[in-house]
Amino acid sequence: MAEIIDGKKIAEDIKREVREETAQLKSQNGVTPGLAFILVGENPASESYIRSKEKGCAESGFYSITERMPTGISQSTLLAKVRQFNEDPRIHGLLVQLPLPKHLNEEEVIEAISPAKDVDGFHPYNVGKLMIGADTFKPCTPAGIQEMLVRSGNDPSGKHVVVVGRSNIVGKPIANILLQKQAGANAVVTVAHTGAKDLSVHTKSADILIAAIGKPRFITGAMLRDGVVVIDVGINRVTDTAAKNGYRIVGDVDFESASKVARVISPVPGGVGLMTVAMLLKNTLKAARNATTRL
Ligand code: NAP
Repeated sequence: MAEIIDGKKIAEDIKREVREETAQLKSQNGVTPGLAFILVGENPASESYIRSKEKGCAESGFYSITERMPTGISQSTLLAKVRQFNEDPRIHGLLVQLPLPKHLNEEEVIEAISPAKDVDGFHPYNVGKLMIGADTFKPCTPAGIQEMLVRSGNDPSGKHVVVVGRSNIVGKPIANILLQKQAGANAVVTVAHTGAKDLSVHTKSADILIAAIGKPRFITGAMLRDGVVVIDVGINRVTDTAAKNGYRIVGDVDFESASKVARVISPVPGGVGLMTVAMLLKNTLKAARNATTRL
């Protein structure tokens, strides 16, 4: 049976470090990290993500503010709000919760965020910096995957990492992060997707398999080789009549069969999902520190 990576413990460790470093920044520089959220409309999933991010801010000793805007808001009003936070010296990080309602242009909104405050790491300027291996804000979920690997003693250096999925928020950035000639990276990376003729050929060649597919229990033990390290990024709701709310959350990996083949596996829930907020806090602290050195 595979060893299980404890995402909760790793996320808690990171949050404790952020809390301690925040206290130090406050006492030594008089700076309180500030994070602003913009939430447009009434998407229940987005509401719940924002609540857990606000809670993380409060626990870390950050200043945070959430701007709730109605669904029908115009692009220009949203852009004006983004610019207002760009100019606000109390705010070091700015996050526009995605997805936005269909009539709004997400790309233009992301590009309006000051790259220095782009703690989600989605601005094309920061995406470019990530690609060339320069210091930047790594997108939170992929950054969390890297931390999980390193802190669980599974350094990707020299390993063959196979990423299944090529989205801009998980697949592409984690591939970019892990292929850099840097500590905690330096892997040989393959990115697979629906264009793969035989996905198993790729997944079976992995030392480290990262599943970011969005399909419940898609990767089975039969698709893996003995001793692989499996990181499951998936968050999928499946019907469960035995559960109180009628559903439960499962990953993109079939835990039951995969955990018999893998040497190490990250569970869902209790894995990558918990890392994202921790990394957002870490990025915001970094943004506050950067602002201090610019003063
Ligand atoms: P996405 O944008 O839907 O991308 C899914 C990727 O998987 C695509 O590149 C797609 O390939 C590939 N794919 C789908 N079916 C496949 C198949 N049969 N064979 C091979 N490749 C296949 O999803 P995402 O936003 O990256 O999210 C992936 C998963 O991670 C979801 O379950 C999501 O809920 C979860 N997630 C978790 C966190 C977190 O833990 N905090 C954050 C973000 C996402 P094509 O490009 O060819 O279509």
